[in-house]
Amino acid sequence: MTDRLPGFSTLAVHAGAQPDPTTGARVTPIYQTTSFVFNDADHAASLFGLQAFGNIYTRIGNPTTAVLEERMAALEGGTAALAVASGHAAQVVVLQQLLMPGDEFIAARKLYGGSINQFTHAFKSFGWNVAWADPDDIGSFERAVTPRTKAIFIESIANPAGSITDIEAIAEVARKAGVPLIVDNTLATPYLVRPVDHGADIVVHSLTKFLGGHGNSLGGIIVDAGTFDWSKDNKYPMLSEPRPEYHGIRIQETFGNFAFAIACRVLGLRDLGPALSPFNAFMILTGIETLPLRMQKHCENAKAVAEFLAGHSAVASVNYAGLASDRYNKLARKYAPKGAGAVFTFSLRGGYDAGVSLVSNLKLFSHLANVGDTRSLVIHPASTTHSQLDDEAKVRSGAGPDVVRLSIGIEDKEDLIADLEQALSM
Ligand SMILES: *Cc1c(COP(=O)(O)O)cnc(C)c1O
Repeated sequence: MTDRLPGFSTLAVHAGAQPDPTTGARVTPIYQTTSFVFNDADHAASLFGLQAFGNIYTRIGNPTTAVLEERMAALEGGTAALAVASGHAAQVVVLQQLLMPGDEFIAARKLYGGSINQFTHAFKSFGWNVAWADPDDIGSFERAVTPRTKAIFIESIANPAGSITDIEAIAEVARKAGVPLIVDNTLATPYLVRPVDHGADIVVHSLTKFLGGHGNSLGGIIVDAGTFDWSKDNKYPMLSEPRPEYHGIRIQETFGNFAFAIACRVLGLRDLGPALSPFNAFMILTGIETLPLRMQKHCENAKAVAEFLAGHSAVASVNYAGLASDRYNKLARKYAPKGAGAVFTFSLRGGYDAGVSLVSNLKLFSHLANVGDTRSLVIHPASTTHSQLDDEAKVRSGAGPDVVRLSIGIEDKEDLIADLEQALSM
């Protein structure tokens, strides 16, 4: 072998995996076990005291899940990763390491509808306050910074309209404020966008979407870029102060550039409990092997469908950053040169009623609340995912009454276009 660094597609198939040392199994087995036998009492004590790495109990770590974690860290260019039960669980675990009651974080207002809910309602009950900023106005992030700001949260390719966020500009705001930048990279996947290369300190994913890719398993992951200094000014006591539950060790001091991933595991996941099942880790690993191929097809189909819609008389506008005329096309060419993703919105001249009617007339597209499946999906956000927002907030987050969201699958694009054509003409 040469000392050539493996490329993305090679990592997608191999990173983290070895033939099973006892059986020779080539595919990573599903270690469907809750717990692991210790070698002896000393071994047990050192595992519990964080003096040695090893398997204890599947809530804290599992060998199948560990392969997924190593693979995702490699694909994102991070130092370590922690898999959890869902994308939302990843967001809770990350912020729990960073915020104390009364603290704040700044979030882009163009986000997955579920994240808007989680930040507005559930997090409020933890005493974590969200300040909203507009990803198209970098100054709005600067203006939202206060002495209690502990993090900035954005999506790389943002829900629901597939708009592209200027990650480097917001990373600069985070750097000046002395807080980490967290990027939800779900809609892009590391195949299209690598936030760590643009200044992100933490990357989170819903693995449920393009990474698993087949609409069959929930999962989430946290990737530690290893870039942030957690010890400064004692701003992040979970990482910088002695931990009473681990004989007084300090997480940052002990674990250096993967301290954040360790904190998420041994403080967050251990105590909050949203562990990923080994079976789901296996399904998602299998999905990741074909991620590059699927993303190429998703993007190619999405562009063809967006072009078709842009030329249709029932369509008022199409928001797809992959179209040369789109306001985000310049950012797309910078951050996502291989393709602008496969989730985008368009608006209908017929408004709310036309949106509702379109989703009921489509046959090949499934009407459901998910994205990133091999199958093409459609939803009318104003009557579903974003229905809890008031009218102004709907429009601000890109989910106005006339807006329809598509997630384009890997079927034949001619069939997708034919289905849209028949549904639009009804
Ligand atoms: C789906 C999704 C989430 C939440 O993930 P779950 O796995 O459903 O908990 C978060 N962010 C984005 C961008 C998503 O699409």
